[in-house]
Amino acid sequence: MNSRWFAPALLAAALFGWLLALFFGDVEWLNATTRLIQDGFLAGLKMIIAPLIFFSLFVGVLRLRNAGSMGKLGGVTVLYYLTTSGIAIILGLIVVFFIHPWTESPPISDLPQIPTKLIDTEAGSIAAMLTGVLRSMLSNPFTALAELNILGILTSAVLFGLAAAWTLPKDSPWPGLLQQLTDVIFKCATWILTLLPLGLFAITFQLTHRIEMHTLVALGQFALVVFAATAVHGLIVLPFIAWLLTGTHPIRLFTAIAQPLFTAFITSSSAATLPLSMRAAEENLQVHRDKAAFVLPLGATVNMDGTALFEGIAVIFLAYMFNVDLSPMAIVIVFFVTMLASAGAPGIPSGSMAGLQVVILAVGIPLEAIALLLLIERPLDTFRTAVNVEGDLIGTLIAEKYA
Ligand code: ASP
Repeated sequence: MNSRWFAPALLAAALFGWLLALFFGDVEWLNATTRLIQDGFLAGLKMIIAPLIFFSLFVGVLRLRNAGSMGKLGGVTVLYYLTTSGIAIILGLIVVFFIHPWTESPPISDLPQIPTKLIDTEAGSIAAMLTGVLRSMLSNPFTALAELNILGILTSAVLFGLAAAWTLPKDSPWPGLLQQLTDVIFKCATWILTLLPLGLFAITFQLTHRIEMHTLVALGQFALVVFAATAVHGLIVLPFIAWLLTGTHPIRLFTAIAQPLFTAFITSSSAATLPLSMRAAEENLQVHRDKAAFVLPLGATVNMDGTALFEGIAVIFLAYMFNVDLSPMAIVIVFFVTMLASAGAPGIPSGSMAGLQVVILAVGIPLEAIALLLLIERPLDTFRTAVNVEGDLIGTLIAEKYA
C-alpha cells in the first residue's frame, strides 16, 4: 500500500472497528470473525519477528565494521549516538517515574497474559533475577528463536555479528548474502504489515469491549507525558549538548536546521528527510560533505533519540495498563532492549512499532497491547521524528569538531 495512505487507512480501520463494536459488539458471528482475524494477524507477526530481529541485528552489527574502518569518525559518531540515545531513554524513564497520571485509571486487566514471563519479576532476590536474565540471554540460539526468547535472540545476534565482523575477510561474500537474506525477511514482514489495517480493525473491535472512557483518558495523559519529555530532550538536552561540545548557540542551531526539522515533522520519516538534512549540514552548519555523508545516513538508521524516549515511556505505560509488574531488573532490561530496538527501527512513519513489540515481549507484556498505542501513535510520531533528525544533525557538528 502507498505509504501516504497507510496512516489514514490505519486510523479509519481503528475507527471502523470501534464504531462497529459500539453498535454491533454483541453480534456473535462478528465477534468470532474479528477474534479469528486478530489471532491470525498476531500469529503472523509472531512468526516473522524472531528471524527479523536476529538477521537485522546481525547484519547491523556486521555493518558497524564499516564504521570501524572509518576510524576516528566512526568512533566519535557511534559514541555520540549511543550516549544521546541512552540519555533519551533515561530521561523518559525518569519523567515517567515522577509523572504517571494514568495510574489513577484502573488497568485493562482482563486481556490474556502471555503464559511465561521472560523474567520472573516476582523472584525475590537480585541474584535469582540475575540468574533468570542470564539464562535467557545465554540460551541456545535455536531454542531462543523457536521460543521467541527476545533476550536470547538479541544476545546471539550481537555475538555472531561481532564475531563475523572480526573474522570475515574484507572481500567475503557473506555480508552481502546476509543483507539479501535480511531483505527477504523484511519483504515477508512488509506483506504481513500490509494487513495491519485489517488486523487493527479486528483488534480494536475486540479491545472496544474493554476500553472505557477512562482508558481513553489514560491514553491522552500518556500522549501528553511523551510530548513533554520529547520537548525537554529536543529543546533543552540536545541543544545543551551541542552548545557544550561545539559552542553552537541554540538560536543559530535551530535557524540552521529548521527546514529538515519541519520536513521530519510533516513526513514522520528520518529517511525521507535525509536529503534536506544533508543540505542543511553542509550549507548551514558548515560541516564537511564527507563527514555529513557518513554521519547522517548512519544516524537516520540507528540514531533515534525521540523513538528511544517514546519506547521507554510506552513500555512503562503498557505494563501498567496490562497489569504486568516491572521489577528494577526489568527496567534495566527495558533500557538495553530499547537501545537496540530504537537503533533497529527504520526511519519511516511508525518505524518503531516493530521494535516496540520486541521491548514489550521482553518484559512479558502481551503483544495485543500494541493496538492500544496504535490509536495514539501517529501524532506522536511527528515530534519524535523531528527530534530524531535533530540528534543526527547535532551529530554532524560533533563529528566536524572532534573527528
Ligand atoms: N518515524 C520515525 C523516524 O522516521 C521512526 C519511529 O519512531 O517510528 O525517525
